[in-house]
Amino acid sequence: MTEKRKRQTPLPVQSRLTGETVARNQVKRHLGKALAAREVTLGETPVPSLWLAVEASPFVLHALVRSDAELSDLDRFLRDVWMECCGHLSQFESRVKDERPVQYVIEPDEVDATAFLAEFPPEWREEIGRRLLSHTPVEKSLATPVSEAFSAGRTLTYEYDMGTTTACTLKVVAEVDAPWPAKKKVRLLARNERPAWVCRDCGEPATQLCTLRDCGDGDGAAMFCARHAKTHPKKAHPDEGGDDWMMAKLSNSPRDPSCGYEEGPRDEEPYVWP
Ligand SMILES: [Zn+2]
Ligand SMILES: [Zn+2]
Ligand SMILES: [Zn+2]
Repeated sequence: MTEKRKRQTPLPVQSRLTGETVARNQVKRHLGKALAAREVTLGETPVPSLWLAVEASPFVLHALVRSDAELSDLDRFLRDVWMECCGHLSQFESRVKDERPVQYVIEPDEVDATAFLAEFPPEWREEIGRRLLSHTPVEKSLATPVSEAFSAGRTLTYEYDMGTTTACTLKVVAEVDAPWPAKKKVRLLARNERPAWVCRDCGEPATQLCTLRDCGDGDGAAMFCARHAKTHPKKAHPDEGGDDWMMAKLSNSPRDPSCGYEEGPRDEEPYVWP
Protein backbone atom coordinates (compact mmCIF):
# COMPACT_ATOMS: atom_id res chain seq x y z
CA MET A 1 0.00 0.00 0.00
CA THR A 2 1.47 3.33 -0.99
CA GLU A 3 0.60 6.58 0.73
CA LYS A 4 -0.98 7.77 -2.50
CA ARG A 5 -3.81 5.34 -1.93
CA LYS A 6 -5.50 7.37 0.74
CA ARG A 7 -8.42 5.76 2.44
CA GLN A 8 -11.59 7.51 1.45
CA THR A 9 -13.70 8.88 4.28
CA PRO A 10 -16.91 6.84 4.31
CA LEU A 11 -19.89 8.76 2.94
CA PRO A 12 -22.14 10.26 5.64
CA VAL A 13 -25.46 8.51 6.12
CA GLN A 14 -28.94 10.02 5.96
CA SER A 15 -31.47 8.65 8.43
CA ARG A 16 -34.90 8.02 6.95
CA LEU A 17 -36.33 7.96 10.49
CA THR A 18 -35.23 11.44 11.55
CA GLY A 19 -34.08 13.10 8.34
CA GLU A 20 -30.70 13.81 9.93
CA THR A 21 -27.32 13.14 8.33
CA VAL A 22 -24.71 11.49 10.53
CA ALA A 23 -21.12 10.26 10.17
CA ARG A 24 -20.77 6.57 9.33
CA ASN A 25 -19.40 5.69 12.77
CA GLN A 26 -22.46 7.31 14.43
CA VAL A 27 -25.08 5.45 12.42
CA LYS A 28 -25.73 2.57 14.78
CA ARG A 29 -26.16 4.78 17.82
CA HIS A 30 -28.32 7.27 15.94
CA LEU A 31 -30.62 4.67 14.39
CA GLY A 32 -30.81 2.64 17.60
CA LYS A 33 -32.13 5.66 19.45
CA ALA A 34 -34.47 6.64 16.64
CA LEU A 35 -35.90 3.13 16.44
CA ALA A 36 -36.51 3.01 20.19
CA ALA A 37 -38.13 6.45 20.13
CA ARG A 38 -40.50 5.73 17.23
CA GLU A 39 -44.06 6.14 18.31
CA VAL A 40 -46.29 3.22 17.49
CA THR A 41 -49.10 4.32 15.23
CA LEU A 42 -52.50 2.71 15.19
CA GLY A 43 -52.51 -0.71 13.57
CA GLU A 44 -48.78 -1.38 14.04
CA THR A 45 -47.76 -4.39 16.10
CA PRO A 46 -44.30 -5.21 17.51
CA VAL A 47 -42.68 -8.03 15.55
CA PRO A 48 -39.22 -9.67 15.93
CA SER A 49 -37.09 -8.04 13.25
CA LEU A 50 -33.56 -7.96 11.91
CA TRP A 51 -31.71 -4.71 11.48
CA LEU A 52 -29.35 -5.18 8.54
CA ALA A 53 -26.43 -3.17 7.18
CA VAL A 54 -26.05 -3.65 3.42
CA GLU A 55 -22.72 -2.61 1.94
CA ALA A 56 -21.30 -2.19 -1.53
CA SER A 57 -18.57 0.34 -0.79
CA PRO A 58 -18.89 3.32 -0.84
CA PHE A 59 -22.66 2.72 -0.84
CA VAL A 60 -24.53 1.57 2.24
CA LEU A 61 -28.12 0.91 3.27
CA HIS A 62 -29.57 0.20 6.69
CA ALA A 63 -32.77 -1.77 6.55
CA LEU A 64 -35.20 -3.38 8.92
CA VAL A 65 -36.79 -6.65 7.89
CA ARG A 66 -39.41 -8.74 9.67
CA SER A 67 -37.89 -12.04 10.81
CA ASP A 68 -40.78 -13.89 9.18
CA ALA A 69 -40.20 -12.19 5.83
CA GLU A 70 -38.58 -14.21 3.03
CA LEU A 71 -35.29 -13.58 1.25
CA SER A 72 -37.44 -12.84 -1.78
CA ASP A 73 -38.77 -9.76 0.07
CA LEU A 74 -35.19 -8.58 0.60
CA ASP A 75 -34.43 -9.35 -3.04
CA ARG A 76 -37.37 -7.13 -4.09
CA PHE A 77 -36.14 -4.35 -1.79
CA LEU A 78 -32.55 -4.48 -3.12
CA ARG A 79 -33.83 -4.49 -6.70
CA ASP A 80 -36.16 -1.55 -6.10
CA VAL A 81 -33.72 0.65 -4.19
CA TRP A 82 -30.36 -0.24 -5.76
CA MET A 83 -30.23 -2.76 -8.57
CA GLU A 84 -33.07 -3.26 -11.02
CA CYS A 85 -32.30 -2.43 -14.63
CA CYS A 86 -34.06 -5.14 -16.63
CA GLY A 87 -34.97 -8.15 -14.48
CA HIS A 88 -31.73 -10.14 -14.26
CA LEU A 89 -31.34 -13.20 -12.04
CA SER A 90 -30.11 -12.70 -8.50
CA GLN A 91 -29.02 -14.85 -5.57
CA PHE A 92 -27.95 -14.75 -1.96
CA GLU A 93 -25.05 -16.84 -0.70
CA SER A 94 -23.87 -17.89 2.74
CA ARG A 95 -20.37 -19.23 3.39
CA VAL A 96 -19.50 -20.46 6.84
CA LYS A 97 -16.27 -22.30 7.68
CA ASP A 98 -16.69 -26.09 7.77
CA GLU A 99 -20.18 -25.93 6.27
CA ARG A 100 -21.32 -26.49 2.73
CA PRO A 101 -21.96 -23.10 1.09
CA VAL A 102 -25.64 -22.27 0.64
CA GLN A 103 -27.04 -20.44 -2.36
CA TYR A 104 -30.56 -19.06 -2.25
CA VAL A 105 -31.94 -18.94 -5.77
CA ILE A 106 -35.28 -18.62 -7.53
CA GLU A 107 -35.31 -22.25 -8.73
CA PRO A 108 -33.17 -24.45 -6.48
CA ASP A 109 -31.68 -27.55 -8.08
CA GLU A 110 -30.63 -30.65 -6.25
CA VAL A 111 -27.09 -31.74 -7.02
CA ASP A 112 -27.23 -35.31 -8.31
CA ALA A 113 -23.74 -36.79 -8.34
CA THR A 114 -24.88 -40.38 -9.00
CA ALA A 115 -23.81 -40.53 -12.65
CA PHE A 116 -20.49 -38.84 -11.89
CA LEU A 117 -19.73 -41.20 -8.99
CA ALA A 118 -20.61 -44.30 -11.04
CA GLU A 119 -17.35 -43.73 -12.92
CA PHE A 120 -15.37 -44.60 -9.80
CA PRO A 121 -14.84 -47.96 -8.07
CA PRO A 122 -17.54 -48.55 -5.43
CA GLU A 123 -15.12 -48.37 -2.49
CA TRP A 124 -14.11 -44.81 -3.49
CA ARG A 125 -17.54 -43.41 -4.12
CA GLU A 126 -18.46 -42.38 -0.62
CA GLU A 127 -15.22 -40.49 0.02
CA ILE A 128 -15.23 -38.77 -3.37
CA GLY A 129 -18.90 -37.88 -3.01
CA ARG A 130 -18.29 -36.36 0.41
CA ARG A 131 -15.37 -34.24 -0.81
CA LEU A 132 -17.18 -33.17 -3.94
CA LEU A 133 -20.28 -32.16 -2.05
CA SER A 134 -18.39 -30.27 0.64
CA HIS A 135 -17.44 -27.71 -2.00
CA THR A 136 -20.66 -27.72 -3.98
CA PRO A 137 -23.21 -25.21 -2.76
CA VAL A 138 -26.54 -26.45 -1.49
CA GLU A 139 -29.28 -24.62 -3.35
CA LYS A 140 -32.23 -23.36 -1.37
CA SER A 141 -35.27 -21.33 -2.24
CA LEU A 142 -35.57 -17.55 -2.08
CA ALA A 143 -38.70 -18.30 -0.07
CA THR A 144 -36.44 -19.15 2.92
CA PRO A 145 -37.35 -16.99 5.95
CA VAL A 146 -34.71 -14.35 6.76
CA SER A 147 -34.62 -15.61 10.37
CA GLU A 148 -33.27 -18.93 9.02
CA ALA A 149 -30.88 -17.48 6.43
CA PHE A 150 -29.30 -15.05 8.91
CA SER A 151 -29.37 -17.48 11.87
CA ALA A 152 -26.37 -17.41 14.25
CA GLY A 153 -25.31 -14.03 12.89
CA ARG A 154 -24.56 -15.29 9.38
CA THR A 155 -23.43 -12.74 6.81
CA LEU A 156 -24.93 -13.11 3.33
CA THR A 157 -23.65 -11.87 0.03
CA TYR A 158 -26.08 -10.84 -2.67
CA GLU A 159 -25.43 -10.81 -6.38
CA TYR A 160 -27.61 -9.22 -9.01
CA ASP A 161 -27.06 -10.13 -12.70
CA MET A 162 -24.75 -13.08 -13.29
CA GLY A 163 -23.20 -11.37 -16.34
CA THR A 164 -22.27 -7.82 -15.31
CA THR A 165 -22.62 -8.64 -11.63
CA THR A 166 -23.24 -6.11 -8.87
CA ALA A 167 -22.61 -7.53 -5.39
CA CYS A 168 -23.19 -6.43 -1.82
CA THR A 169 -22.94 -7.95 1.66
CA LEU A 170 -25.67 -8.05 4.28
CA LYS A 171 -24.81 -8.16 7.97
CA VAL A 172 -27.04 -8.31 11.01
CA VAL A 173 -26.56 -5.18 13.15
CA ALA A 174 -29.08 -6.19 15.82
CA GLU A 175 -32.21 -8.19 16.50
CA VAL A 176 -35.00 -5.87 17.60
CA ASP A 177 -38.74 -5.94 18.27
CA ALA A 178 -40.18 -3.23 16.07
CA PRO A 179 -43.74 -2.12 15.37
CA TRP A 180 -44.78 -2.91 11.80
CA PRO A 181 -47.54 -1.50 9.66
CA ALA A 182 -49.75 -4.17 8.08
CA LYS A 183 -48.46 -5.82 4.89
CA LYS A 184 -44.99 -4.22 5.05
CA LYS A 185 -41.92 -6.45 5.33
CA VAL A 186 -38.84 -4.29 4.70
CA ARG A 187 -38.19 -0.70 5.83
CA LEU A 188 -35.36 1.57 4.73
CA LEU A 189 -33.78 3.11 7.84
CA ALA A 190 -30.91 5.02 6.28
CA ARG A 191 -28.68 5.27 3.24
CA ASN A 192 -25.45 6.99 2.26
CA GLU A 193 -25.55 10.59 1.16
CA ARG A 194 -25.01 11.03 -2.57
CA PRO A 195 -21.27 11.03 -3.34
CA ALA A 196 -19.76 14.43 -4.21
CA TRP A 197 -19.22 13.58 -7.89
CA VAL A 198 -16.95 15.99 -9.75
CA CYS A 199 -16.84 16.90 -13.44
CA ARG A 200 -13.67 15.67 -15.10
CA ASP A 201 -13.46 18.74 -17.33
CA CYS A 202 -14.10 21.59 -14.88
CA GLY A 203 -14.36 20.34 -11.29
CA GLU A 204 -17.97 21.45 -10.84
CA PRO A 205 -20.52 18.95 -9.41
CA ALA A 206 -21.18 16.13 -11.89
CA THR A 207 -24.61 14.74 -12.77
CA GLN A 208 -23.83 12.40 -15.67
CA LEU A 209 -21.29 9.78 -16.64
CA CYS A 210 -19.93 8.33 -19.83
CA THR A 211 -20.74 4.61 -20.07
CA LEU A 212 -17.95 3.81 -22.54
CA ARG A 213 -15.41 1.79 -20.63
CA ASP A 214 -12.31 3.22 -22.34
CA CYS A 215 -13.35 6.67 -21.12
CA GLY A 216 -13.06 5.84 -17.42
CA ASP A 217 -9.84 6.13 -15.46
CA GLY A 218 -8.49 4.05 -12.58
CA ASP A 219 -11.07 5.43 -10.17
CA GLY A 220 -14.09 4.51 -12.26
CA ALA A 221 -16.33 6.16 -14.82
CA ALA A 222 -15.70 9.58 -16.34
CA MET A 223 -18.21 12.05 -14.84
CA PHE A 224 -19.41 15.37 -16.16
CA CYS A 225 -21.47 18.44 -15.24
CA ALA A 226 -24.52 19.19 -17.39
CA ARG A 227 -22.52 21.53 -19.62
CA HIS A 228 -19.66 19.12 -20.32
CA ALA A 229 -22.01 16.14 -20.63
CA LYS A 230 -23.26 17.95 -23.74
CA THR A 231 -19.82 18.56 -25.26
CA HIS A 232 -18.19 15.25 -24.24
CA PRO A 233 -19.75 12.94 -26.88
CA LYS A 234 -18.58 14.99 -29.87
CA LYS A 235 -15.21 15.80 -28.32
CA ALA A 236 -14.23 12.33 -27.08
CA HIS A 237 -16.28 10.02 -29.28
CA PRO A 238 -16.50 11.57 -32.75
CA ASP A 239 -16.80 8.11 -34.34
CA GLU A 240 -19.90 7.19 -32.32
CA GLY A 241 -22.42 9.10 -34.42
CA GLY A 242 -22.15 12.42 -32.65
CA ASP A 243 -25.15 12.00 -30.34
CA ASP A 244 -25.12 11.38 -26.59
CA TRP A 245 -26.31 7.76 -26.34
CA MET A 246 -23.32 6.88 -24.16
CA MET A 247 -24.15 9.43 -21.45
CA ALA A 248 -26.23 8.38 -18.41
CA LYS A 249 -27.51 10.02 -15.27
CA LEU A 250 -25.38 9.35 -12.17
CA SER A 251 -27.25 7.21 -9.65
CA ASN A 252 -26.76 6.75 -5.91
CA SER A 253 -26.31 3.02 -6.40
CA PRO A 254 -23.53 0.43 -6.74
CA ARG A 255 -25.28 -0.75 -9.93
CA ASP A 256 -24.26 2.42 -11.77
CA PRO A 257 -23.31 2.39 -14.66
CA SER A 258 -23.90 -1.31 -15.45
CA CYS A 259 -26.47 -2.19 -18.10
CA GLY A 260 -27.68 1.41 -18.40
CA TYR A 261 -28.99 1.44 -14.82
CA GLU A 262 -30.66 4.67 -13.75
CA GLU A 263 -32.27 5.32 -10.39
CA GLY A 264 -35.88 6.52 -10.32
CA PRO A 265 -37.09 9.50 -8.28
CA ARG A 266 -39.39 7.35 -6.13
CA ASP A 267 -37.48 4.05 -5.87
CA GLU A 268 -37.26 4.07 -2.08
CA GLU A 269 -40.68 5.56 -1.36
CA PRO A 270 -42.53 2.27 -0.67
CA TYR A 271 -39.93 1.39 1.98
CA VAL A 272 -39.87 4.57 4.05
CA TRP A 273 -41.99 4.93 7.19
CA PRO A 274 -44.41 7.81 6.80
ZN1 LIG B 1 -29.96 -5.01 -17.19
ZN1 LIG C 1 -17.86 20.45 -16.28
ZN1 LIG D 1 -16.68 9.12 -22.96
